[in-house]
Amino acid sequence: MSDVGRAALFHGPGAGFELAELPVPEPHPDGALIRITRANVCGSDVHAWLGHFDMTRMGATFPTILGHEAAGVVSALGANVTSDVNGSPLSVGDRVTFSYYQPCGHCRSCMKGRPHACVRQTMAMFGTAAKPPHFVGVFGDYFSLGPRSTIVKAPEGVPDSVLAGANCALAQVVSGFDEIVVEHGDAVVVQGAGGLGLYATAVARERGAGQVIVIDGNEERLKLAEAFGATATISMRETPESRDRIRRVRQLTESWGADLVVEVAGVPQAVTEGLAMVGAHGKYLTMGAVGSTETIPLAPSRLILGNIQMRGVGFYRPQALVRGVDFLARNIDRLPFEALAADPYPLEQIAEAMEAARAQGVARPSLTMV
Ligand SMILES: [Zn+2]
Ligand SMILES: [Zn+2]
Repeated sequence: MSDVGRAALFHGPGAGFELAELPVPEPHPDGALIRITRANVCGSDVHAWLGHFDMTRMGATFPTILGHEAAGVVSALGANVTSDVNGSPLSVGDRVTFSYYQPCGHCRSCMKGRPHACVRQTMAMFGTAAKPPHFVGVFGDYFSLGPRSTIVKAPEGVPDSVLAGANCALAQVVSGFDEIVVEHGDAVVVQGAGGLGLYATAVARERGAGQVIVIDGNEERLKLAEAFGATATISMRETPESRDRIRRVRQLTESWGADLVVEVAGVPQAVTEGLAMVGAHGKYLTMGAVGSTETIPLAPSRLILGNIQMRGVGFYRPQALVRGVDFLARNIDRLPFEALAADPYPLEQIAEAMEAARAQGVARPSLTMV
């Protein structure tokens, strides 16, 4: 192991990135040191970079290191760590993915078995790079995993380019569908066909949805949504008016409306539109609009008289990551996951990767450290 590793220091919105060499830490006794091989730029990284949410108020100390969606190999294991979450023996050199946050283990949520709702969690992107263990985000050569992390060994046949999407986007989608159940034959609407939207489409189908209607403004993404199992798509370019899109969903669902609408569009306005697409006793799940504090008009009577359940889901239980990785292994030959993974940028070109992510193309821009 070399004594130093590179990382892209983030000094706060507007200050850009600085490539630095940092001392490689020892692993936490109950954690691990991961050498990052592939790191994706998630929408949350873009929101943090652009200052859409106040990281300082949320506890960040600059300089920090952004990035949380990644695959890597075990570089060093903590003295007390011998296996992954499934009980498989873990050794230096094993390919892995890992949860990017650690629950505190003793707050009320943690005590009730809801670690994803922990109120005192430690999370990638929010630590300081100035003090050991330095590597607090995945946009660098290493990431220091703390205690109560979930480590999952990579299945053979799932390359890092595909595995990298598991520990945020895919695990988040699996968690959302765990919390708000899809029933056999349900009509599901997915708002947004980025990484989360495409995973949501495929996972909804696998869980028995009869219809998955995907809405996006990018034709190429919609084409890919069909490959991931969408039964119908609605183009926001062809159907620019919100009321027409709502009408289209009603048409496609025999006037009933959707049994479940999933927001992974990342904009609060989508929630107003999506709620109007939900049928009687239907459900609304929001997971995408995490980077905005903007408010939207909402008529409570619509929820009450429609008997509609509305749910926000953030973070995930360890099992969601385990089953997300299983999902990739099971479907690697059937679904075009590689289409989500563009050619990666070297770490030095992090600014270009962030710009590409802001442009919201089809693939999720990523960085490679090897
Ligand atoms: Zn993310
Ligand atoms: Zn907790």
